[in-house]
Amino acid sequence: MDERILLLESNFFLGRSIKYGIETKLGFQVLWYKSYEQFISTNHDFNKIDLAIIDYDISRNDENKVLDYCHSENVPIVLLADTITHDIQEKIWTLKIVDYILKGNNYSLETVFDITKRFFNNPEIGVLVVDNSLESRDHLRSLLSLHRYKIFETDNSYNAIEIINDNFNTISVVLIDYDLKDKNGLELTAEIRKQYPVDRLAIIGISAQGNHTLKISFIKNGANDFLSKPFISELLYCRITQNIKIIEYFREIKQLAVIDQLTTLNNRHFLKEIGGYFFENAKRHKLSIVAAMIDIDDFKLVNDTYGHDAGDTVLKEISMELKHFMRKSDIVIRFGGEEFLILANNLDTKIAMDFFNNLRVLIEHREIELSDKKINVTVSIGISYRQSDTLEELIINSDKKLYEAKATGKNRVCI
Ligand code: GH3
Ligand code: MG
Ligand code: MG
Repeated sequence: MDERILLLESNFFLGRSIKYGIETKLGFQVLWYKSYEQFISTNHDFNKIDLAIIDYDISRNDENKVLDYCHSENVPIVLLADTITHDIQEKIWTLKIVDYILKGNNYSLETVFDITKRFFNNPEIGVLVVDNSLESRDHLRSLLSLHRYKIFETDNSYNAIEIINDNFNTISVVLIDYDLKDKNGLELTAEIRKQYPVDRLAIIGISAQGNHTLKISFIKNGANDFLSKPFISELLYCRITQNIKIIEYFREIKQLAVIDQLTTLNNRHFLKEIGGYFFENAKRHKLSIVAAMIDIDDFKLVNDTYGHDAGDTVLKEISMELKHFMRKSDIVIRFGGEEFLILANNLDTKIAMDFFNNLRVLIEHREIELSDKKINVTVSIGISYRQSDTLEELIINSDKKLYEAKATGKNRVCI
């Protein structure tokens, strides 16, 4: 990566840990200066510096010269400080500092990495500002741009919905003021929530009328959070970051819930999430849809002969084979123990038999390496493709065909 970070930190241990951590964890280059003298005697090319992480003690001893210097060169600053007093806090925000980190607690280092990572990742994260007042929008925009969020803005709820629909993969947070050009912020919040759940999009209500009823109404209408105007910028940043983190956790958990840990294929929960959409989409576009149920033959024997770990290896290898054989647009699921389901769109039903027979032959000839020997396994495959069926019927029918393949001798495809 090309990102470069300037680090000014006199504490050897801390400086080394930050430099090492950012370079290895995040892959950004860190130029580390251990003293003010070293920093000032170097010719800096500020065009090539994306972020400065600066020890507040060093900068304070020299009357903020370093901070002013970076500030005048438009380099965003993150401060490392021992303690934060109200005075320092004021100064920090007048100099438009991205964030500060308290040194010396257990989380300091992780916080440095987290803030740095977010700073470089924020341009991917969309924040929509919906506010009647141009002045407020300008203020919010200048605050958000310091953290490099991708900013969208409008003064009315009609456009807000359009912007979210057009950018729903980008926008994570919507800031909604109570006063809008058309509806009020509560109505817009409720309308957004009809389409976008709390774990998908965070809404933060904002209003100058900081009464409790309004705050509660925002939350009751589906907002995740509320800010009363005027707020200090730090609070806005904290709330936005917190809400983005929560959405990211939800995304991660959802992701984990639909993935089979052993094979890394999707599991049956994934089918529940996406299967209906996949099926309806195929129907709407009049695409053929083929379901193939695949079961490893005599798998119990593999476990009994070579052990459970060997069985696991076979499951992983077969899973990878299935994944590679199918197209990216197909769904490959670990349906149960040694049973897999494939849903393929737009696969010519006339060639489906040959297609899956090729897969069967490929697996039959594939040598699977165990710790001390190589083995081969075979699979039986049942296929169904009737367009008129529901997804459930399609799956049940492929299972029936699989049963037929097993009953007529295994290592075969039935359609
Ligand atoms: P058939 O040819 O009729 O399909 O016989 P089979 O032995 O493959 O089928 P059976 O249903 O009798 O046995 C499936 C075995 O798969 C039993 C179960 O212990 C094993 N199994 C299920 N999940 C796992 C797993 O995650 N790892 C391992 N190693 N074995 C598993
Ligand atoms: Mg089996
Ligand atoms: Mg089975």
